[in-house]
Amino acid sequence: GDRPAVEALQHRDVGELLPRPGPESDKYRRGVVGIVAGSARYPGAAVLAVSGAQRGGAGAVRYVGPAADAVVTRHPETLVSQGPPSKAGRVQAWAVGSGLGEDKDRLEDVLPADVPLLIDADGLRLADEAALRARSAPTVLTPHAGEAAALLGRERADVEAHRLASARELSDRTGATVLLKGSTTLVVGPGGVRVNPTGSGWLATAGTGDVLSGLIGSLLAGGLDALDAASAGAYVHGLAGRLSPRPAGASDVAEALTAAWRDLLRGGGP
Ligand code: AMP
Ligand code: MG
Repeated sequence: GDRPAVEALQHRDVGELLPRPGPESDKYRRGVVGIVAGSARYPGAAVLAVSGAQRGGAGAVRYVGPAADAVVTRHPETLVSQGPPSKAGRVQAWAVGSGLGEDKDRLEDVLPADVPLLIDADGLRLADEAALRARSAPTVLTPHAGEAAALLGRERADVEAHRLASARELSDRTGATVLLKGSTTLVVGPGGVRVNPTGSGWLATAGTGDVLSGLIGSLLAGGLDALDAASAGAYVHGLAGRLSPRPAGASDVAEALTAAWRDLLRGGGP
């Protein structure tokens, strides 16, 4: 059938997509993003996802899981709780899966939520395809090539050789918007296809994907649609990688998100 053309993201367009608070804004209207990430084994993934979410423009970040102490130590503004995410209070979007380990219960609790949901990392491994198709609100999947290959039942090399077709197939199978990470990140969804030009090899380091998941979750909570949130998130994240100290760790990339936003909100060139 008809397929949208592939669009390369432009600096100015991304700048216009980013939410700007105004006189009528309050923290709830700016959106509350819920983060379901981290485990006893991977507490840092929770901290990194929250650090991306705290710099994604949402009015508040809720963290649900066992890494609450580590999260609050680093980001005291975070609302934290344990127990089922669906009981944690209202959120406008969820980002789930970074460092989740084998905690399928927390994932399955949020899968039916009637708000936008991003799934990353361990969440991609644990999610059931029928449950994804049954979702009533937009879904964003953020696999790297290895994770996409596992979801499609293919070899990683095959996905690397056919990145656009692989992302498209995964999107068609799940109904989700698929952000396929890599040196050139692709975003393929029902609403279109976008290519992110801001990648940087300096991002190829542990934890940067966790930052991205929180950042996109925050943009979803701020009201961007799935294609815009995923592609603007990839752009801002890549720009932060370019603006980070070198060699950067994922925490440095998260901190550089504010410099990337400053650049974009001004509307200048990259
Ligand atoms: P993950 O694979 O979840 O750790 O996420 C890694 C992040 O780094 C993603 O945003 C990738 O797009 C990005 N990344 C990894 N390798 C490269 C590369 N060679 N050039 C640009 N970006 C990269
Ligand atoms: Mg990852």
